[in-house]
Amino acid sequence: MACQTKARKLHNAGYVENMKTEILCTRKIEFDAAHRVVGHEHKCRFLHGHRYVLEATFSAPNLDDIGRVIDFGEIKTILKTWIDENLDHTTILWNQDKELGSNISTITNQKIYYLNSNPTAENIAHHLFAEIIPALFQGLEAKIKSVKLYETPNCSVVVE
Ligand SMILES: [Zn+2]
Repeated sequence: MACQTKARKLHNAGYVENMKTEILCTRKIEFDAAHRVVGHEHKCRFLHGHRYVLEATFSAPNLDDIGRVIDFGEIKTILKTWIDENLDHTTILWNQDKELGSNISTITNQKIYYLNSNPTAENIAHHLFAEIIPALFQGLEAKIKSVKLYETPNCSVVVE
């Protein structure tokens, strides 16, 4: 009873209505890629693959005329297209690991995606958050708010 009274008082005082609300919009995009983590103490130093799951979250100062942060389809068109063309079924390597990259591409003819840093989930997520996504969505009202990248169903990183 006491709790209900307190809740009603808070509501009547307008605290609930005045709470700052932020609406976020997240699109999930999955891709397959190989990588290796140079200097890793255990088996992640070996070339291996992941089914990466990227969750890109956007915010906007205002919802658009029909009530959206950004259309889910627009994120898919822009970001999934870029992922498909640049990361999906590639090998993601540190640009200091070019000897491995050249050998792979010589034999398989596949594209190697080089990062300026060791391709940990943290560095891949940060690259997407700080460089790729802002460039892709430049000029749009919605801005990237956070990137969550799963390397496995149990292991993920967040950059925000
Ligand atoms: Zn890995």
